[in-house]
Amino acid sequence: MYIVMLGAPGAGKGTQADIVRQNLDLPHIASGNLFRQSMDNNTELGLLAKSYMEKGTLVPDGIVIKMISQRISEVDCNKGWILEGFPRTLQQAVALDQVLTEQGKAVDKTIYVEVPEEELVKRLSGRWICKKCQTPYHQEAFPPVIAGKCDKCGGELYQRLDDKEQTVRNRLKIFKEITVPILGYYKKQNKLVKVNGNQGIEKVTEEILSEVA
Ligand code: ADP
Ligand code: AMP
Repeated sequence: MYIVMLGAPGAGKGTQADIVRQNLDLPHIASGNLFRQSMDNNTELGLLAKSYMEKGTLVPDGIVIKMISQRISEVDCNKGWILEGFPRTLQQAVALDQVLTEQGKAVDKTIYVEVPEEELVKRLSGRWICKKCQTPYHQEAFPPVIAGKCDKCGGELYQRLDDKEQTVRNRLKIFKEITVPILGYYKKQNKLVKVNGNQGIEKVTEEILSEVA
């Protein structure tokens, strides 16, 4: 099963992808996580992405498409994947279809997690991420068992610099202007499923699993 998770920053894509991946036993591939890993490792890719991520703007298509094309060509992707944070532009969506066609594969479903804007801002300002495994937590909606520590790996939790209010507003503007048009691209292919993301984490998971399990 090849599943794409779509939604605004803070909609809960990462949270849901992590749960659904465990249910379906598929790799979870998140473009933002791959960039943050590269930044932590001080690689050339990380340095390239850093300046864009800090401003809340998109990393240029060529760089993202190359990174994701390589990742989805790895052997663990032969049984499927859950892709999150990519595609974010029409050009990325078209490039993804091209790579998949070459591999004799296709996207099965795109899940659009819908959440109102003011809720997104609240979620992002309360988000804490694990430094080691990048699991997202929330100080109210999804707190860790031990404050400041990841439940899964014990890693230290931190707040992303791009979750500051001004950067968040910039990311939401880019989402509306540049990413929303790809919903139409997948709708035309009859692959778009909308899920109400403005409810408890478990309820959202139930809706998603009813579509993909
Ligand atoms: P995205 O990957 O779409 O940017 P995340 O999965 O990181 O979003 O979630 C953003 C924040 O909102 C995190 O702090 C997460 O714990 C919290 N969150 C996720 N889903 C919900 C939900 N259904 N209700 C309330 N908070 C949520
Ligand atoms: P995320 O973790 O998905 O919120 O992404 C964090 C940041 O990484 C974004 O604000 C962008 O700067 C960059 N990024 C992640 N995925 C993409 C993508 N598909 N296209 C362009 N930039 C991306």
